[in-house]
Amino acid sequence: MKLIFLGAPGSGKGTYATRVAPAIGVPQISTGDIFREHLKNNTEIGKKIKSIMESGNLVPDEVVMEIVKDRLKKDDVKKGFIFDGFPRTLEQAEEFGKITSVDAVVNLVVPEKIIIDRLTSRRVCEKCGSIFNIMSMKPKEEGKCDKCGGKLIQRKDDTLEVIMDRLNVYKKQTQPLIDYYRKKGLIIDIVNDNPNASPEQVLPRILEKLKNIQTK
Ligand code: ADP
Ligand code: ZN
Repeated sequence: MKLIFLGAPGSGKGTYATRVAPAIGVPQISTGDIFREHLKNNTEIGKKIKSIMESGNLVPDEVVMEIVKDRLKKDDVKKGFIFDGFPRTLEQAEEFGKITSVDAVVNLVVPEKIIIDRLTSRRVCEKCGSIFNIMSMKPKEEGKCDKCGGKLIQRKDDTLEVIMDRLNVYKKQTQPLIDYYRKKGLIIDIVNDNPNASPEQVLPRILEKLKNIQTK
């Protein structure tokens, strides 16, 4: 199955994509994670995008398409994929459409107030990238990753100021994609307006809807 997860920053894209992917046997591909790897390893791409990412702006489409095309060369995508955080602009979506088909686009709909609360309390594992939340998805031991024991840190772009900028970027550049894919009949809306719903409660709702999807 070939899926895209769409949603504002903090809508739970990453959280659900990492859980749905093993359930349906496809890799989860987060362009944000790939870029953060480049930053960490201080690659040529990393140097180019550092200030853009830290300010909450979008990486240029050419750079994004380059890493996406590269990622699609790996064997594991033969069974399908979940793209999480890609495409994010109409240009990316159109380019992507030339490379591969998509079976469905999961659109996570979450009220802005919940998003802001969630992002300011989000923590990620420095080592393996697992996502936690000091309010709603606490690690077993404070400051420590349940999976690998790595240190939990706050992303540089998870401060209130940058969050507001990222939300504006999302509204302007990414929201038009909802219409774009809706016209193609691909959108599955998942409304999540309960701030206390755990991923374990939301996950079955997504999997249930995916059961009806015809793969191409
Ligand atoms: P979030 O969805 O929480 O904002 P991501 O990890 O998806 O976080 O993305 C983090 C940052 O990486 C973005 O703010 C942007 O700078 C960059 N990025 C990730 N994916 C893309 C993309 N498809 N197009 C442009 N920039 C991207
Ligand atoms: Zn970890």
